[in-house]
Amino acid sequence: MGVAVEYWTPGDVQRRLEPNLRLGEVEGPIIRLTEEGWIDSIPFIGRLRQAAIDTGLLAVVTATALHIDTRRDEVCVTTSAGNLHGTFVCLAAGSGTSTLTKALGCKIDVAKDPGILFTASIQPSILNHVVYAGDLHFRPDSNGRVMGGHHTASFDGTDGDALTQSLRLAAELAKVVPSISQAPDIQAYAVSRPVPVDGLPIAGWLPEMERIYVSACHSGITIGPLLGMLCANEILGKSSALPTEFRTSRFKPDVKTHTLRSTEDGPEAG
Ligand SMILES: Cc1cc2nc3c(=O)[nH]c(=O)nc-3n(C[C@H](O)[C@H](O)[C@H](O)COP(=O)(O)OP(=O)(O)OC[C@H]3O[C@@H](n4cnc5c(N)ncnc54)[C@H](O)[C@@H]3O)c2cc1C
Repeated sequence: MGVAVEYWTPGDVQRRLEPNLRLGEVEGPIIRLTEEGWIDSIPFIGRLRQAAIDTGLLAVVTATALHIDTRRDEVCVTTSAGNLHGTFVCLAAGSGTSTLTKALGCKIDVAKDPGILFTASIQPSILNHVVYAGDLHFRPDSNGRVMGGHHTASFDGTDGDALTQSLRLAAELAKVVPSISQAPDIQAYAVSRPVPVDGLPIAGWLPEMERIYVSACHSGITIGPLLGMLCANEILGKSSALPTEFRTSRFKPDVKTHTLRSTEDGPEAG
């Protein structure tokens, strides 16, 4: 198995693939990954969620999980909307996973990786590919938008820095995509991605917690559907092909604070 690549000259890319890019100063070859694509993540996730609701097996509760109590025969999650009881819990809380697992005595570090994203609407749509140009990356987005970002920019998370960096990004992008400078609605977003501290996805039972499963990763849009299926199979007791490198055992246990008890042992927390 491998990745199919093609080598193009900048002139041919401009003539045949991306006529709206300015590639005069680009040194070839340009590498094209023939199978690479992009997905409009918000409607994609909305459809997956709706499909799950349509099965009739999913109850949706919008609330903050405040505390998790594992017991011999169940797990109870105290939320801002009341207590939820179940056989298992899957923690898929992005960077919120760190706080929830720390309270359970095993901190699984999922950091917030801040960054700037930039969108501009240009009709008709002017891009056909996901493009990596040095530290810049940009791609077509829904409704004729172009979405761009910067790999290496460090960002202090403040609004002022977001504005400065997005203006710089817009100026850099306009060198290769000149029509950006005429776009009527340029918008910048300060965002953060959940990134496990060692970069690898996390999938598996929390050490010594047979009712609590954790799933978190940085590439959730790309591998989320497969990872979700493998995790669900494992939670249901089936074997899965998840690599050992993804397991929670790679994280050191934190100070133990949880208690394991039966429901008869006492009142519910929270
Ligand atoms: C700008 C940006 C670029 C991205 N680029 C890519 C990409 O190129 N390729 C790719 O594959 N993926 C990409 N992603 C996806 C991203 O990196 C993650 O993989 C993805 O968001 C993980 O989804 P998740 O549901 O696990 O976590 P999140 O999306 O972080 O969602 C976790 C949810 O849990 C909620 N939560 C946290 N704590 C609690 C609590 N105590 N109680 C209740 N709810 C809680 C949060 O509010 C949040 O809604 C990108 C994301 C962003 C924002």
